[in-house]
Amino acid sequence: MFTKARLHLTAWYLLIIMIISVSFSGIIYKGITLAFQQRFHTVERRIESIPPPFRPTQSQFDFFVEELEESRHEILLILLYTNLGILIFSSLAGYFLAGKTLKPIEKAMDQQKRFIGDASHEMKTPLTSLITSLEVALSDKNMTKKEAKQVLAESLEDATNLKDLANNLLSLTKYQHNGHTFPKEMINAKESVQKALNTLKPLAKKKNIKLTTSLKNVFIFANSESLEKVATILLDNAIKYTPPKGRVKLSLETKGRNMVLEVSDNGIGIEKENEKHIFERFYREDSSRCKQEVAGFGLGLSIAQQIVSMHSGTISVESTPGTGSVFSVIIPLKNS
Ligand code: ADP
Repeated sequence: MFTKARLHLTAWYLLIIMIISVSFSGIIYKGITLAFQQRFHTVERRIESIPPPFRPTQSQFDFFVEELEESRHEILLILLYTNLGILIFSSLAGYFLAGKTLKPIEKAMDQQKRFIGDASHEMKTPLTSLITSLEVALSDKNMTKKEAKQVLAESLEDATNLKDLANNLLSLTKYQHNGHTFPKEMINAKESVQKALNTLKPLAKKKNIKLTTSLKNVFIFANSESLEKVATILLDNAIKYTPPKGRVKLSLETKGRNMVLEVSDNGIGIEKENEKHIFERFYREDSSRCKQEVAGFGLGLSIAQQIVSMHSGTISVESTPGTGSVFSVIIPLKNS
């Protein structure tokens, strides 16, 4: 598809360049022909004004006309060769430039294809499980009320998972580089982080996790809703990947010209070789998935990274398996 588009674009580039080149050549040739004609008439008049004994002979005059015609032909040939050269050069340069122009579009389309493929794959698992359990329940004539309730509870869980996935996918597209859905203003980041904290406190309490905070006022040019989202994702993960009775700490402060948000836990940690992958879409560490059944689709950190990069900031992790992790978000207070 892209080879065809590249050839198409090359043809358009070529057409535009050749129209300009041929038009200029035509104008140059026309101008030179006119100049030659004027010169010819001037010479003719001058010859007529010379007295006959001194006047050049007809053959001498014909020779002059031939020379003039020869020069005109040479100029025409030079213009033709120049246009041929421009045609060859523009074809090669046009093909190269068309490739360069289309490369980012090709890359974006590949990413989108992969994204849709991954999203559909992730949706299939809870959907298949939902359909299977409903089919089995429907075909079971001796099902007790208790068993039916169990199936309904499982189906509800699958449906909730699907809703979460849909919400995460929406967040990913929402936070893609799109200025108008992402208005920034001067805010106190503490308020956004506090909101995330309030949402997740009950979850920590339910898991018997000790949640400590150290939140300072940080005035930053940012989008408050998305900052809250980043804090929610990091806190949610810290709670999810920390065993009951563990500890999670949240801190927010200004360091130099940056806002620094840190979420640390003494949970399961991340293997060194997996640290670079955890920000990729749909990536979930195998160990965390196998060792304990933690819900998630591997989208949270990629959403957080997208938001942070829209604030010209960075997100990083320091982790030791079995000891815990520290996620740090650094965003310039005056980001563009
Ligand atoms: P999800 O949590 O839905 O799987 P994320 O993108 O938020 O997706 O995280 C990607 C992966 O990074 C998780 O599956 C987990 O393996 C790892 N991870 C994230 N946060 C932590 C943490 N605080 N402790 C240990 N592992 C984590």
